[in-house]
Amino acid sequence: MTIFEKIMAGQIPARIEFEDEHVIVIHDISPQAPVHLLVIPRKVIPTVNDIGGSDQELIGHLFSTASRVMRGLGHTDYRCVFNCGAGAQQTVFHLHLHVLAGRSFSWPPG
Ligand code: 5GP
Repeated sequence: MTIFEKIMAGQIPARIEFEDEHVIVIHDISPQAPVHLLVIPRKVIPTVNDIGGSDQELIGHLFSTASRVMRGLGHTDYRCVFNCGAGAQQTVFHLHLHVLAGRSFSWPPG
């Protein structure tokens, strides 16, 4: 069980910003910006490489949830990131969309 499954099961506390039957949105425990949310599907999908054809609606829901939550928090400018694989610094192998806001960002990312 990953840390996110434990959070969704209520075994580990988290600051929950939003949840529905498909996703949960929590605040990252180690925020890299004033706002740093994780949009996590309840379905266990380890990485972007594991997204299947039947997941397309769910992936769209991750983004529409991100924009709705960020609008609610008053942010129109933010960065959305999926880290895919250890080489891209993914550390929790349960798909999650990072959503960061509240500071200026540079490009390219490190
Ligand atoms: P990744 O490195 O896999 O792209 O992102 C995993 C994220 O999960 C990291 O930003 C990390 O800070 C966050 N994280 C790890 N453990 C916990 C936890 O127990 N609670 C919360 N809220 N975030 C966590």
